[in-house]
Order: sequence, then structure tokens, then C-alpha cells
Amino acid sequence: MNVAYISHSDCGRHDTGWRHPEHVGRLRAIPRALREDVELYHALEQVEGRYASEADLALAHDAGYVDEVREIAQRGGGRLDADTVVSDGSWDAARAAVGCVLDGVDFAIDGKARSFCAVRPPGHHALRDSAMGFCLFGNVAIAAHYARRRGVERVLIVDWDVHHGNGTQALVESDPTIRFVSMHQSPWYPGTGAAADRGPHKSVWNVPLPGNLAPALYVAALQSAVTEATTDFTPGLVLISAGFDSLHGDPLGEFTLEIDHIAQLTAWMVSRANEWCGGRMVAALEGGYDPERVGAGAVAMMRAMR
Ligand SMILES: [Zn+2]
Repeated sequence: MNVAYISHSDCGRHDTGWRHPEHVGRLRAIPRALREDVELYHALEQVEGRYASEADLALAHDAGYVDEVREIAQRGGGRLDADTVVSDGSWDAARAAVGCVLDGVDFAIDGKARSFCAVRPPGHHALRDSAMGFCLFGNVAIAAHYARRRGVERVLIVDWDVHHGNGTQALVESDPTIRFVSMHQSPWYPGTGAAADRGPHKSVWNVPLPGNLAPALYVAALQSAVTEATTDFTPGLVLISAGFDSLHGDPLGEFTLEIDHIAQLTAWMVSRANEWCGGRMVAALEGGYDPERVGAGAVAMMRAMR
């Protein structure tokens, strides 16, 4: 299947300030890494994503919170929590980040391409009525609800960011047609994501693991959880919250995955998606705070998605 690389220039306008780990260099590293794989670079469909509409954002967020983000950006910026900043460009960045993932969903449903969405701000900590952990809007959670509205009956979200996708869980767990698998370091930020926390419909599989294990253990644990989550559930679309802070050496995590493990997990998810739903898959960037590793990880995923 074709692979689309979806991004938006406005994602660079979310200015988090001096020394913030979630900065635009993370995104710039991806095209830089892509240019070193000439064959892949030329094979990709490069797409400038759309802006999500306020109706799209309302699939997962309270209108009052959406207004608050827009108004703070229009006033020139401010701080929403200890780690989460809004700058004058953040409103455009955040709705472009969501829009890129929605474009990916459209490409998947229409059979055009699997997509990697190079977006920021990330999304998986954002809550219905508040920002959290560098995240403004729940990019992937909104995409899951959007896919349901477009007629996809069952959606699987797999989150391998080193942090628990607490926001995604909160935004999808009340809908049993969306299943969520999150593997994350524990104990670690944000402190949620216990294995016993299955959500009200038991549609959540949390896989908390300590840092510094052998990488194959993380791969096997995630595959086992995905297998369990899909024994009686055939997804019509697979969404991946691709956090590259689960790579060895990330400044904000202690997992030990290497680029080859990302390639292995992606290839495995593609083969499962081929069995379930004609290979419909959208990956969206979450964390990952060593820009060079973000670039390499994204390229490995796009290579494995072909
Ligand atoms: Zn993370």
C-alpha cells in the first residue's frame, strides 16, 4: 500500500520556549532523516494536512476548553499546566495536528495509504477539558471517534509511548467499540495506567513495565496485549500512538527499544492490520525527546509500513 507522510508547517508554530523538551527540532529531524533514505523519500506521498474543525475537536473535548486554548493563543500565549504551554501559534498548530491525523484516517478508510503523521503538540495526555503533559488536544482519540463517525465499526489504538496515554484512555474508554492498548513505564509520569485499570467496559489493556528491561520483553509484552485485545474484536482501523521516548537513551524514559524494534513492531502491526482490515493504519507522533532518534524511528516506521 502507499505510505503518506502527513505534516503541517503550522505544527512548528507551537513555541514551547527555551529548553522545553517538546520543541520543533523533533519534527525537523524527520524530513532530515528521510532524505538519507532516497528510495523511501521518493516513494512517500507527502501531504500537508488540514486543520481540524471545531466540530472535530468536539468529538473529544468540551467547547469551553477549546475556546480557552484559542483565546489564550490569541492573547499571545500562556501556560496551561506546569509543563504545557500555549503560544500565539499553538491554536493553529494544535488543530493542524488533529487535522493531519484525520487526513490519515480518511486515507486509510478510502484505501489510499497508510500514514505517518508528523505532528506536534502531541496528544495522548490531553483530557476532555484540560491540557496536560505537553498535549493540547487528543489527536489520536479524536481520530478514533472520527473514524467511528465515518462508519468504521471497531477501532484499535496501540500506544507505545513510554508514558501512559491517560488522555487517550479517558477520551475513548466509555466507547466499547474503541479498544486501547498502552504499554508504558511504571512507576513513571503520569502515574496512571495500572494493569487492573481496564476502563468501564474492559476495553483498555494497560501494560505497565519497569524501565531497563531487555528490549525483547517490551516487544513481546505489547504483542501479547494486542493479541489479547483482538481475540474477540476485529478492528476496522488501527491507530498507533508512536512515541519514540520508548527508545533507549531517551531523556524522558528508561525503556530500551532500538530502531529495529520499532521496525519490528510496525511490521507486525501492519501484518495484523492486513488480516483484520485491509491494512488500514495511521500512526501519529507522540513523545520522543532525542530528535535524531525521533527522525530515525519515524523513518523506520514508514519503511515498515510499505
Ligand atoms: Zn511520552
